[in-house]
Amino acid sequence: MNCKRLVKRGIASLVDTFVSQPCLPGNRDPATRILLYHSLQCRSSADPLGLQVVPGEFERHMGFLRDNGYTVIRLSELVDGMSGKEKIGHKTVAITFDDGFLDTLNVACPVLEKFGYPATVFISSGIMRGNVRGADYWDSWEYMTRSDVKRMSEHSLFDIGSHGVSHVRLSSVSGERQSCEIRDSRAILEEVIGKKVGYFSYPHGCFDARVKKAVEDAGYNGACSSFIGMNRVSGDVFALKRTEISGFDTVADVAMKLRGAYDWLYGFQKLTGYR
Ligand SMILES: [Zn+2]
Repeated sequence: MNCKRLVKRGIASLVDTFVSQPCLPGNRDPATRILLYHSLQCRSSADPLGLQVVPGEFERHMGFLRDNGYTVIRLSELVDGMSGKEKIGHKTVAITFDDGFLDTLNVACPVLEKFGYPATVFISSGIMRGNVRGADYWDSWEYMTRSDVKRMSEHSLFDIGSHGVSHVRLSSVSGERQSCEIRDSRAILEEVIGKKVGYFSYPHGCFDARVKKAVEDAGYNGACSSFIGMNRVSGDVFALKRTEISGFDTVADVAMKLRGAYDWLYGFQKLTGYR
Protein backbone atom coordinates (compact mmCIF):
# COMPACT_ATOMS: atom_id res chain seq x y z
CA MET A 1 0.00 0.00 0.00
CA ASN A 2 1.16 3.49 -0.82
CA CYS A 3 2.69 5.44 2.05
CA LYS A 4 0.13 8.29 2.07
CA ARG A 5 -2.77 5.86 2.26
CA LEU A 6 -1.06 3.97 5.06
CA VAL A 7 -0.64 7.18 7.09
CA LYS A 8 -4.26 8.18 6.47
CA ARG A 9 -5.48 4.76 7.58
CA GLY A 10 -3.28 4.91 10.69
CA ILE A 11 -4.66 8.32 11.71
CA ALA A 12 -8.22 7.16 10.92
CA SER A 13 -7.79 4.10 13.15
CA LEU A 14 -6.71 6.35 16.02
CA VAL A 15 -9.57 8.78 15.41
CA ASP A 16 -12.00 5.86 15.17
CA THR A 17 -11.57 5.05 18.84
CA PHE A 18 -13.03 8.45 19.73
CA VAL A 19 -15.53 9.38 17.01
CA SER A 20 -18.12 6.72 17.67
CA GLN A 21 -18.75 7.82 21.25
CA PRO A 22 -22.47 8.62 21.51
CA CYS A 23 -21.69 11.28 24.13
CA LEU A 24 -19.92 13.52 21.55
CA PRO A 25 -22.08 16.57 20.77
CA GLY A 26 -21.90 15.99 17.02
CA ASN A 27 -23.19 12.44 17.36
CA ARG A 28 -26.41 13.61 18.99
CA ASP A 29 -27.54 15.65 15.96
CA PRO A 30 -29.19 13.85 13.08
CA ALA A 31 -26.91 14.00 10.06
CA THR A 32 -26.51 12.23 6.77
CA ARG A 33 -23.41 11.00 5.00
CA ILE A 34 -23.45 10.90 1.20
CA LEU A 35 -21.32 8.15 -0.30
CA LEU A 36 -19.56 8.87 -3.59
CA TYR A 37 -18.70 6.08 -6.00
CA HIS A 38 -17.42 6.27 -9.57
CA SER A 39 -16.96 2.95 -11.37
CA LEU A 40 -17.58 -0.65 -10.37
CA GLN A 41 -15.18 -2.98 -12.15
CA CYS A 42 -12.18 -5.15 -11.48
CA ARG A 43 -9.35 -2.84 -10.57
CA SER A 44 -6.87 -2.05 -13.31
CA SER A 45 -3.31 -0.99 -12.62
CA ALA A 46 -4.03 2.20 -14.57
CA ASP A 47 -6.27 3.64 -11.86
CA PRO A 48 -4.05 5.63 -9.47
CA LEU A 49 -7.04 7.41 -7.91
CA GLY A 50 -8.83 4.18 -7.04
CA LEU A 51 -12.00 5.15 -8.90
CA GLN A 52 -12.77 1.50 -9.64
CA VAL A 53 -14.39 -0.49 -6.83
CA VAL A 54 -14.59 -4.25 -7.33
CA PRO A 55 -18.29 -5.23 -7.78
CA GLY A 56 -18.24 -7.83 -4.97
CA GLU A 57 -16.79 -5.22 -2.60
CA PHE A 58 -19.62 -2.82 -3.45
CA GLU A 59 -22.15 -5.50 -2.57
CA ARG A 60 -20.35 -6.01 0.75
CA HIS A 61 -20.56 -2.25 1.44
CA MET A 62 -24.32 -2.34 0.85
CA GLY A 63 -24.57 -5.40 3.11
CA PHE A 64 -22.66 -3.51 5.80
CA LEU A 65 -25.20 -0.67 5.63
CA ARG A 66 -28.10 -3.11 5.95
CA ASP A 67 -26.56 -5.14 8.77
CA ASN A 68 -25.56 -2.11 10.81
CA GLY A 69 -28.85 -0.25 10.90
CA TYR A 70 -28.21 2.43 8.28
CA THR A 71 -31.18 3.85 6.35
CA VAL A 72 -30.51 4.85 2.75
CA ILE A 73 -32.43 7.94 1.65
CA ARG A 74 -32.69 9.97 -1.57
CA LEU A 75 -30.82 13.24 -2.01
CA SER A 76 -34.18 15.04 -2.16
CA GLU A 77 -35.09 13.68 1.31
CA LEU A 78 -31.76 14.87 2.65
CA VAL A 79 -32.14 18.36 1.16
CA ASP A 80 -35.72 18.60 2.48
CA GLY A 81 -34.39 17.55 5.87
CA MET A 82 -31.60 20.13 5.79
CA SER A 83 -34.07 22.90 5.04
CA GLY A 84 -36.37 21.73 7.83
CA LYS A 85 -39.17 20.37 5.60
CA GLU A 86 -38.59 16.77 6.73
CA LYS A 87 -36.88 15.13 9.65
CA ILE A 88 -33.50 13.54 9.05
CA GLY A 89 -33.06 10.37 11.08
CA HIS A 90 -29.89 9.07 12.71
CA LYS A 91 -27.61 6.79 10.70
CA THR A 92 -28.93 7.93 7.33
CA VAL A 93 -26.88 7.61 4.16
CA ALA A 94 -27.42 8.71 0.55
CA ILE A 95 -25.63 7.02 -2.35
CA THR A 96 -24.28 8.83 -5.42
CA PHE A 97 -22.33 7.84 -8.52
CA ASP A 98 -20.40 10.37 -10.59
CA ASP A 99 -19.65 10.31 -14.31
CA GLY A 100 -22.16 7.78 -15.65
CA PHE A 101 -19.98 4.79 -16.46
CA LEU A 102 -21.82 1.89 -18.07
CA ASP A 103 -21.06 -0.32 -15.06
CA THR A 104 -23.25 1.95 -12.91
CA LEU A 105 -26.20 0.63 -14.92
CA ASN A 106 -24.99 -2.94 -15.41
CA VAL A 107 -23.37 -3.62 -12.05
CA ALA A 108 -24.47 -1.09 -9.43
CA CYS A 109 -28.17 -0.95 -10.28
CA PRO A 110 -28.87 -4.69 -9.83
CA VAL A 111 -27.11 -4.63 -6.44
CA LEU A 112 -28.96 -1.49 -5.32
CA GLU A 113 -32.23 -3.04 -6.53
CA LYS A 114 -31.52 -6.16 -4.49
CA PHE A 115 -31.12 -4.04 -1.34
CA GLY A 116 -33.90 -1.59 -2.31
CA TYR A 117 -31.49 1.35 -1.99
CA PRO A 118 -32.04 4.56 -4.00
CA ALA A 119 -29.12 6.37 -5.64
CA THR A 120 -28.45 9.49 -7.68
CA VAL A 121 -26.28 9.15 -10.77
CA PHE A 122 -24.56 12.29 -12.08
CA ILE A 123 -24.05 12.39 -15.84
CA SER A 124 -21.97 14.71 -18.02
CA SER A 125 -24.40 15.24 -20.88
CA GLY A 126 -21.78 15.83 -23.59
CA ILE A 127 -19.87 12.68 -22.70
CA MET A 128 -23.11 10.69 -22.65
CA ARG A 129 -23.87 11.92 -26.16
CA GLY A 130 -20.42 10.95 -27.30
CA ASN A 131 -19.71 14.49 -28.50
CA VAL A 132 -17.00 15.16 -25.98
CA ARG A 133 -14.21 12.88 -24.90
CA GLY A 134 -12.00 13.95 -22.04
CA ALA A 135 -8.28 13.39 -21.81
CA ASP A 136 -8.29 11.93 -18.30
CA TYR A 137 -7.27 8.30 -17.87
CA TRP A 138 -10.80 7.19 -16.98
CA ASP A 139 -12.15 8.51 -20.27
CA SER A 140 -11.14 5.25 -21.92
CA TRP A 141 -13.73 3.43 -19.77
CA GLU A 142 -17.20 2.86 -21.20
CA TYR A 143 -19.86 5.47 -20.50
CA MET A 144 -23.64 5.15 -20.64
CA THR A 145 -25.37 6.26 -23.83
CA ARG A 146 -28.57 8.30 -23.99
CA SER A 147 -30.71 5.18 -24.10
CA ASP A 148 -28.84 3.70 -21.11
CA VAL A 149 -29.48 6.87 -19.10
CA LYS A 150 -33.13 6.85 -20.13
CA ARG A 151 -33.44 3.20 -19.08
CA MET A 152 -31.88 3.90 -15.70
CA SER A 153 -34.14 6.90 -15.10
CA GLU A 154 -37.22 4.73 -15.63
CA HIS A 155 -36.40 2.77 -12.48
CA SER A 156 -38.09 4.27 -9.43
CA LEU A 157 -34.93 3.88 -7.29
CA PHE A 158 -32.59 5.93 -9.46
CA ASP A 159 -32.44 9.69 -9.98
CA ILE A 160 -30.38 11.37 -12.67
CA GLY A 161 -28.37 14.47 -11.81
CA SER A 162 -26.16 16.76 -13.88
CA HIS A 163 -22.36 16.67 -13.89
CA GLY A 164 -21.95 19.46 -16.47
CA VAL A 165 -21.64 19.00 -20.22
CA SER A 166 -17.95 18.28 -20.72
CA HIS A 167 -16.68 17.57 -17.18
CA VAL A 168 -14.59 20.75 -17.23
CA ARG A 169 -13.40 22.36 -13.94
CA LEU A 170 -16.04 25.07 -13.67
CA SER A 171 -14.00 27.43 -11.53
CA SER A 172 -11.42 27.73 -14.31
CA VAL A 173 -13.74 28.76 -17.18
CA SER A 174 -15.58 31.99 -18.10
CA GLY A 175 -18.98 32.86 -16.65
CA GLU A 176 -20.56 32.28 -20.03
CA ARG A 177 -19.06 28.80 -20.34
CA GLN A 178 -20.07 28.00 -16.76
CA SER A 179 -23.63 28.93 -17.51
CA CYS A 180 -23.69 26.68 -20.61
CA GLU A 181 -22.22 23.75 -18.69
CA ILE A 182 -24.69 24.15 -15.83
CA ARG A 183 -27.87 24.96 -17.77
CA ASP A 184 -27.38 23.08 -21.04
CA SER A 185 -26.47 19.83 -19.30
CA ARG A 186 -29.71 19.91 -17.39
CA ALA A 187 -31.78 20.78 -20.47
CA ILE A 188 -30.22 17.90 -22.43
CA LEU A 189 -30.68 15.39 -19.60
CA GLU A 190 -34.29 16.47 -19.03
CA GLU A 191 -34.97 16.01 -22.73
CA VAL A 192 -33.46 12.51 -22.61
CA ILE A 193 -35.24 11.28 -19.48
CA GLY A 194 -38.45 13.33 -19.72
CA LYS A 195 -38.20 14.29 -16.04
CA LYS A 196 -36.87 17.20 -13.97
CA VAL A 197 -33.20 17.12 -13.00
CA GLY A 198 -32.88 18.64 -9.53
CA TYR A 199 -29.27 18.09 -8.45
CA PHE A 200 -25.79 18.96 -9.67
CA SER A 201 -22.37 17.49 -8.90
CA TYR A 202 -19.36 19.77 -9.45
CA PRO A 203 -16.99 18.08 -11.96
CA HIS A 204 -13.66 17.22 -10.25
CA GLY A 205 -15.30 18.57 -7.07
CA CYS A 206 -14.15 22.06 -8.17
CA PHE A 207 -16.26 25.06 -7.30
CA ASP A 208 -15.99 28.54 -5.86
CA ALA A 209 -18.58 31.11 -4.76
CA ARG A 210 -19.24 32.16 -8.38
CA VAL A 211 -19.86 28.59 -9.57
CA LYS A 212 -22.05 27.81 -6.58
CA LYS A 213 -24.18 30.89 -7.24
CA ALA A 214 -24.51 29.98 -10.92
CA VAL A 215 -25.83 26.52 -9.96
CA GLU A 216 -28.23 28.06 -7.47
CA ASP A 217 -29.42 30.68 -10.01
CA ALA A 218 -29.98 27.95 -12.60
CA GLY A 219 -32.72 26.56 -10.36
CA TYR A 220 -31.17 23.35 -9.04
CA ASN A 221 -32.30 22.18 -5.59
CA GLY A 222 -28.80 21.32 -4.38
CA ALA A 223 -25.26 20.41 -5.42
CA CYS A 224 -22.70 17.85 -4.32
CA SER A 225 -19.06 18.65 -3.60
CA SER A 226 -16.21 16.23 -2.92
CA PHE A 227 -15.46 17.60 0.55
CA ILE A 228 -15.71 14.86 3.15
CA GLY A 229 -18.08 15.07 6.10
CA MET A 230 -21.63 14.84 7.38
CA ASN A 231 -24.57 16.95 6.20
CA ARG A 232 -26.53 18.49 9.04
CA VAL A 233 -29.70 20.56 9.33
CA SER A 234 -29.08 24.16 8.16
CA GLY A 235 -25.98 23.09 6.20
CA ASP A 236 -25.34 24.48 2.70
CA VAL A 237 -27.37 22.38 0.23
CA PHE A 238 -25.22 23.76 -2.62
CA ALA A 239 -22.05 22.41 -1.02
CA LEU A 240 -23.20 18.99 0.12
CA LYS A 241 -20.34 16.98 1.58
CA ARG A 242 -19.62 13.53 0.27
CA THR A 243 -17.48 10.65 1.43
CA GLU A 244 -15.65 9.03 -1.45
CA ILE A 245 -15.34 5.27 -1.36
CA SER A 246 -12.31 4.17 -3.34
CA GLY A 247 -11.09 0.91 -4.71
CA PHE A 248 -8.39 0.88 -2.02
CA ASP A 249 -10.95 0.76 0.79
CA THR A 250 -11.68 -2.46 2.61
CA VAL A 251 -15.06 -2.97 4.30
CA ALA A 252 -13.30 -1.97 7.55
CA ASP A 253 -12.28 1.35 5.92
CA VAL A 254 -15.85 1.92 4.73
CA ALA A 255 -17.07 1.29 8.28
CA MET A 256 -14.54 3.81 9.62
CA LYS A 257 -15.54 6.34 6.96
CA LEU A 258 -19.20 5.91 7.94
CA ARG A 259 -18.32 6.52 11.60
CA GLY A 260 -16.43 9.70 10.68
CA ALA A 261 -12.89 8.46 11.31
CA TYR A 262 -11.70 10.06 8.05
CA ASP A 263 -13.54 13.37 8.49
CA TRP A 264 -10.38 15.11 9.69
CA LEU A 265 -9.43 15.07 5.99
CA TYR A 266 -11.90 17.95 5.51
CA GLY A 267 -9.45 20.39 7.09
CA PHE A 268 -6.71 19.02 4.86
CA GLN A 269 -8.93 19.38 1.76
CA LYS A 270 -9.76 22.99 2.67
CA LEU A 271 -6.13 23.83 3.34
CA THR A 272 -4.69 22.33 0.18
CA GLY A 273 -7.63 22.90 -2.17
CA TYR A 274 -7.52 19.17 -2.86
CA ARG A 275 -11.00 17.75 -3.22
ZN1 LIG B 1 -16.65 13.42 -12.42
